[in-house]
Amino acid sequence: MKRFDIAIIGGGIAGTSLAAEVAPHASVVVLEGEDAAGYHSTGRSAAFWSETYGGPDIQPLTTASHAALAPYLSPLGSLHIGRAHEASLIDGFLAEFAGSGVELTRVDPAAYIPGLRPEWTLGILEPTCAYIDVGGLHGEAIGRMKRAGGELWLRAGFQTATREGGDWRIDTAAGPLSAGILVNAAGAWADPVATRLGAAPLGIQPYRRTLAQLRTDPPVPENMVHVAHIGTQFYFKPEAGGKLWLSPSDETPTSPCDAAPEEMDVAIAIDRLEGAVDWRITAVERKWAGLRSFAPDRLPVYGFDAGVPGLFWCAGQGGFGIQTAPAAARLAAGLLLGQTPDASVAAIDAQRYAPSRFG
Ligand SMILES: Cc1cc2nc3c(=O)[nH]c(=O)nc-3n(C[C@H](O)[C@H](O)[C@H](O)COP(=O)(O)OP(=O)(O)OC[C@H]3O[C@@H](n4cnc5c(N)ncnc54)[C@H](O)[C@@H]3O)c2cc1C
Repeated sequence: MKRFDIAIIGGGIAGTSLAAEVAPHASVVVLEGEDAAGYHSTGRSAAFWSETYGGPDIQPLTTASHAALAPYLSPLGSLHIGRAHEASLIDGFLAEFAGSGVELTRVDPAAYIPGLRPEWTLGILEPTCAYIDVGGLHGEAIGRMKRAGGELWLRAGFQTATREGGDWRIDTAAGPLSAGILVNAAGAWADPVATRLGAAPLGIQPYRRTLAQLRTDPPVPENMVHVAHIGTQFYFKPEAGGKLWLSPSDETPTSPCDAAPEEMDVAIAIDRLEGAVDWRITAVERKWAGLRSFAPDRLPVYGFDAGVPGLFWCAGQGGFGIQTAPAAARLAAGLLLGQTPDASVAAIDAQRYAPSRFG
């Protein structure tokens, strides 16, 4: 039976980014239940990097990830829009990020969105928002891990594990193995996996989010910014070839599953879009849904379990798991290996993400 220093359950962006960081220092295996490592949330994201997304407690992770993400980013820009009765939301948003260093400017939204309906008078431009090449980023993490000697086991769903003499004896669909430390990077399944290891669940709740790819008349200009409603009722962004990606910003609590879109959520999204712009929808080309999994305080969880020795959490990445992946992995790797974290994350207080905060 093969032994590793570290076995990571979950081959999404969280598990593979962490594996890439620890592989030069320890033997590591990533156990992924599916045929493809990006099958769940990682392969279904809206793929943007926004420093304001997730709020001020997420922003340090997002900002610290920028340098590592740079080869996978391309310019987009984001516009947060509102109507007169939403002025307090606009003001609150600016106040939240005052002094953070994030570039935010009040603008007339009509200058950025052709066909915007006249009641949408308020806008904040976040010019640094960017597209992320998620496939490229995820592939790079897997490649970096493998080059350092790490292994990715596909169709290797974690089943059970018992702690014997300071090691985990682990059963998976691909056979048994042993490891000194087990990392829970199972995304929407983080709580059920923890329970199987004898740990207390942290209350990590998956929520379904829907995206649709549309054609519009007139076609969306390819250089248009990403547009987000300040009241989180929708967002949309241009895609290559005049396509539009649209979400109703839905958050439907669900059990961990292979999420599928509901017709009603797509209809709600289109209705909200039509309330913002005068475009005609000519086709719904594609629709999909994925799970965004949050801890009760909506901050991620990085650190050793408070009760079960040899169990490390890397979970609760919500709607920001791609844009924070490099910094989160470096922070988590420092904790996992008991080493001083990389200089790029040294200023980030890891305690705020500790699993022990839930008592
Ligand atoms: C619609 C949508 C839009 C989003 N947009 C953005 C965005 O623009 N920017 C951004 O940064 N983030 C975005 N996100 C969030 C981002 O996708 C997630 O935060 C991120 O993908 C989480 O990564 P993960 O590795 O934790 O989860 P996952 O990618 O779900 O990986 C977890 C893996 O664990 C595996 N697993 C589970 N149980 C077991 C088991 N027992 N044994 C073995 N393997 C197991 C699963 O098969 C899965 O592959 C979006 C999410 C959605 C759904």
